Amino acid sequence: MPESADEVYARVVDAVGADGHLPMPPKTEWDNFPWSVVDGVIVPRVLSAPADEHVRSGEGDKPCGVCRDGFDPAHVVWEDERWVLAHHGAPSGLPLVLLLHTREHLDMGTLDDDLASELGRITNRLVRIIEGLPDIGRVHVARWGDGGSHLHVWFIARTHRLTNVMGSTAIEWDDIIPPGSETVWRADLHAVATKLANWGGDARA
Ligand SMILES: [Zn+2]
Repeated sequence: MPESADEVYARVVDAVGADGHLPMPPKTEWDNFPWSVVDGVIVPRVLSAPADEHVRSGEGDKPCGVCRDGFDPAHVVWEDERWVLAHHGAPSGLPLVLLLHTREHLDMGTLDDDLASELGRITNRLVRIIEGLPDIGRVHVARWGDGGSHLHVWFIARTHRLTNVMGSTAIEWDDIIPPGSETVWRADLHAVATKLANWGGDARA
């Protein structure tokens, strides 16, 4: 069962106090992080001049890590012949952050109608399953794909009643909030995997 907002809040207060700021995540150093601090004030980062796009893994001479290395069995939550649902290997600040990949190297926009229909059905089911767990406020579904070209759709579950952790910035909080209990996280993965396997495929978590 995912932690309640009160439990997450208590963990953060334990770490930095009720008025304390959690440490900045590494992503603040990334070029695409849109904010800078100038004279103690947060301002938008200066926009860089147009340049060549970053080469995604699986494009040009850059190998696809997913196809090259396969899926780490220790990270697989659920799978069938065409889809693999995986986690990142350890709990993070949000209750659950999962990635749904096609088994084959395909990108969004290149799925045939059958696969696209399956994506819709799995997405709908997965959101219902995760939002059905206690203390989950919402599951955000995202496809960015600027780093890797092998299709991966994010399922980002946020805690109910943590009202700062909402909308598109929920994924930012995932890097900021100290990770919760691995036991709780694994129990939640197991619940999601077994419920999804009721529809088809195999639970692996
Ligand atoms: Zn690939």
